[in-house]
Amino acid sequence: MLRGRAAVVTGSTSGIGLGIAVALAAQGADVLLNGFGKAEEIEDVRSSLARAHGVRVSHSAADMSKPDEIDGMIAQATRDLGGVDILVNNAGIQHTAPVREFPIERWIAIIAINLTAAFCATRAALPHMESRGWGRIINIASAHGLVASIHKAAYVAAKHGVLGLTKVVALETATTGVTCNAICPGWVLTPLVQRQIDEMAAREGLSGDEARARLLGEKQPSLEFATPEQIGAVSAFLCSDAAAQIRGAALPVDGGWTAQ
Ligand code: NAD
Repeated sequence: MLRGRAAVVTGSTSGIGLGIAVALAAQGADVLLNGFGKAEEIEDVRSSLARAHGVRVSHSAADMSKPDEIDGMIAQATRDLGGVDILVNNAGIQHTAPVREFPIERWIAIIAINLTAAFCATRAALPHMESRGWGRIINIASAHGLVASIHKAAYVAAKHGVLGLTKVVALETATTGVTCNAICPGWVLTPLVQRQIDEMAAREGLSGDEARARLLGEKQPSLEFATPEQIGAVSAFLCSDAAAQIRGAALPVDGGWTAQ
């Protein structure tokens, strides 16, 4: 379905972003991976993805908190893959603390990586998509783009902002072949969430299993994690022709979290 399309997936050396990169490559897209990690591990992922699906895969270590590096990543995608047809703004970080104790540096970093980076990458990639008359921008927001939780001021603010950005870009591209939508995952068991489980276990004197069950029980009615593969499959669907008139949507994949 996506043979000949070029996809940039930010934050795709781990977790949800990697699940999305795999799903798009499986549909035939060439992929630019982005994110941090050990060089040998990233090279393993890159080469095995390219081999498994017969697609071009490259990697950019651009730091999503730095606008000039984001421009450099989009320029690299045009060099390595011949353009940018699909942009998935996925890179994200978390920090939890009550508002009155929330460190300003953490606020600035979260807004930069979780929100401003999506704006910068969209701004840089849109001309490529518009010149080809086709494009897909997918923003990985969160259930926290729709509702709030305590101790996540910066994250909730950034993710609500991502949904606002999604709607504006969807409207500005409404008469073109470019669409912009957001996916709002609930809990997905990735390193980002494992850290929160470990903190809860230490704070409350729980085992890992108990902390995991408590985390799900507090928010996610299905009591099951969503998976990177599921978020990848929903992303591939948003790239399909069937999704051409889905514009400006915020699609929850959250086990019922935001239905409550
Ligand atoms: P993760 O920690 O497993 O992966 C984050 C990725 O982003 C990694 O590849 C990392 O290298 C990269 N990254 C971090 N900082 C970066 C930077 N400055 N520049 C470039 N890359 C950077 O996290 P995840 O759980 O897979 O989260 C991915 C996205 O999904 C985030 O936007 C997160 O907010 C969102 N999300 C996650 C969950 C969940 O339950 N895991 C739920 C809702 C939304």
